[in-house]
Amino acid sequence: MQRSTTWSIFREVCVITGSMLALIPSVVAENVRLKMPLACDPGRTCNIQNYVDIDSSSAEKDYKCGTLTYDGHNGTDFRLRSLDAQRAGVNVLASASGRVVRTRDGVPDGSFLKSAPEAVRDIECGNGVIIEHPDHWETQYCHMAKGSLQVKPGDLVKAGQPLGQVGLSGLTEYPHLHFTVRHQGRIADPFAYGRPSGTCDGGESLWDPSLREQLAYQERAVLNAGFTSSPVTMDIIEDGNAEKKLPAIDSPAIVAFIRAIGLKAGDTQRLAVTNPVGNVLAENRAVPLDKNKAQVMLFAGRKRPVGGWDQGVYKATYVVERDGKVVLKKEFELSF
Ligand SMILES: [Zn+2]
Repeated sequence: MQRSTTWSIFREVCVITGSMLALIPSVVAENVRLKMPLACDPGRTCNIQNYVDIDSSSAEKDYKCGTLTYDGHNGTDFRLRSLDAQRAGVNVLASASGRVVRTRDGVPDGSFLKSAPEAVRDIECGNGVIIEHPDHWETQYCHMAKGSLQVKPGDLVKAGQPLGQVGLSGLTEYPHLHFTVRHQGRIADPFAYGRPSGTCDGGESLWDPSLREQLAYQERAVLNAGFTSSPVTMDIIEDGNAEKKLPAIDSPAIVAFIRAIGLKAGDTQRLAVTNPVGNVLAENRAVPLDKNKAQVMLFAGRKRPVGGWDQGVYKATYVVERDGKVVLKKEFELSF
């Protein structure tokens, strides 16, 4: 790639040699500093579903030696919480300043992983952008919405500049941005660049320091939680429709639902709803998970009693336990 002096970062180092203090100018390339590649709030409007697979075998491991990846995954997946959020439009952003070197647009949005993976052979990234940065760094953005790209090869872009929007193009089951970082042509994990092999900690975060707290590793997370007035399915939650049917005083049912990601084999889940006087209205205790799950859903609900619903506050509590310890908890409520 072309190196621009305006992009390069230099620093000088002081070296003491014997009795002589010598100031020796030295050019040291610094690592790229990454901003959010997606206009979302991690932990609130998006979550990291998958990290880079650091395991070179047919098994898989994320940079914390956890389960949030799959075999051969070479980037970070920032997942939106529903199709509704994607349809509203979420910008994909240049993670660092640089020059656009490649783009692809025109791949239709659709759920190809379930229907016809062969339809996206060799275009698994779908609509995407590749940007080169100083010192042989490169970032790639995949699964963007057809017709949404706002840049073309040769464009100079600034960090944070919109490139287009999240879509469902290429090999993807749900709306997310797949974000790949490369250095000198090799995959770089932005959470643990240079991690010594065989370790579950270490390496350098390439994220801007202002983002590190928001992007702290969460081995389990709640993606969706709420109340609805009719039975829910994973598809209804994915579509964003569950949240839209908020129960009212005359609703035929009150149902609390939850969707969580990153749960592990052996985790136990419980979702309970209490009525305005604190009595348990409905409870769902799931059997311990038989294997690690990319996502799970659980609901607990009850049909309207003969006398109708009491006015007041209905509270839902979701708890995931492991070895007798609470490892994930979410409380939410409904009132009328
Ligand atoms: Zn991915």
